Amino acid sequence: MPELDVHLFTCRSDNYGVLLHDRDTNKTLSIDAPEANAVRSALRDRGWSLDYILTTHHHTDHVEGNEPLKAETGCQIIGPSGEAERIPGIDTALDEGEVFEFGSRQVQVISTPGHTIAPSTYWLAQDNLLFAGDTLFSMGCGRLFEGTAEMMWNSLEKLMALPPDTQIYCGHEYTLSNGEFALSVEPGNAELVKRVEEVRALRRERKPTLPAGLGLELATNPFLRPMSPEIRRNLDMQDAENWEVFGAIRRLKDQS
Ligand SMILES: [Zn+2]
Repeated sequence: MPELDVHLFTCRSDNYGVLLHDRDTNKTLSIDAPEANAVRSALRDRGWSLDYILTTHHHTDHVEGNEPLKAETGCQIIGPSGEAERIPGIDTALDEGEVFEFGSRQVQVISTPGHTIAPSTYWLAQDNLLFAGDTLFSMGCGRLFEGTAEMMWNSLEKLMALPPDTQIYCGHEYTLSNGEFALSVEPGNAELVKRVEEVRALRRERKPTLPAGLGLELATNPFLRPMSPEIRRNLDMQDAENWEVFGAIRRLKDQS
């Protein structure tokens, strides 16, 4: 595979933008467009011109830059078909299992309902990269604005089945507060304790905590761990289904 450059940058208050640049074809893609200015200056910093915006979901803090950037650059906007009518400027709507050709590589669409009704998570298998929008955060997951706990759990299970060395980029820097919450439901998880210490050190220096490796998420993210005996004991849900335990963890986090 020819090299892919990944440029992560902060925008708005706690959003992340990501630019991908395929060196072989000189094509550039923006994962979401949280705000036009931040994407513009990231492009300028790198000397890249925008060819595509790949939208994860319809929330304003992920699509606000779509129309101005499209007007300036003529870029194409690709997004999930189940939210197409709510994504400004969309040109191509893709469904679960469809593939977007980005330069010489393939981006696979995984439909992950829960945070909204039909968001897409994008997987670049050859590069071990996953762009999870607001579905999966490091040590957390998105709030259930439009879907149910069972829907979101089914979505997360699809992501959990990817190779453990997959590197995950998320829409926000929420890792530290997610980690503090995770410790409240699974304080005996030694890997979690260690991970939160590392995250505290990174955030003290204002460094990003992303990307996050899927293997570490499986070991530390309580939303991927409803099968954990410790979490089940703490919630008094020893015999419940995984999605029910997941839902209870989500409700606790909403109240925290
Ligand atoms: Zn969102």
